[in-house]
Amino acid sequence: MGNPLGPDATFRDGLSKGQINLQQCGNCDQFIFFPRINCPHCGGTSLTWHPASGKGEVHTATTVRRRAEKGGDYNVSMIELAEGVRMMSRVDGIAPLDVKIGLAITAFAGEIDGIPAVLCKPAEG
Ligand SMILES: [Zn+2]
Repeated sequence: MGNPLGPDATFRDGLSKGQINLQQCGNCDQFIFFPRINCPHCGGTSLTWHPASGKGEVHTATTVRRRAEKGGDYNVSMIELAEGVRMMSRVDGIAPLDVKIGLAITAFAGEIDGIPAVLCKPAEG
């Protein structure tokens, strides 16, 4: 299917519609992030888009200090999704210092400062 948007724009367009979409390589079946034209694993070019499961865990976590009047401390995490890709995100709904490596999260499409972004919350259950 013809798509006028480049891979990165397609990803951001999905986010703005509330979807986290990931590319998967039709040659080696691996999922890919950042979005790109060629598979970084095998060089394949038949990449297709699939909605992410939203399941994942925290890979690294950093607490960023911020003045209380600007919203207080927040968390910046590298998350690893069940599909095997890693991306920067922010875990909400939990104190920043309680975000630990290995914490199970649910990723969802949200926005940071008005810009579509991948956000997370602690997985339920
Ligand atoms: Zn591949």
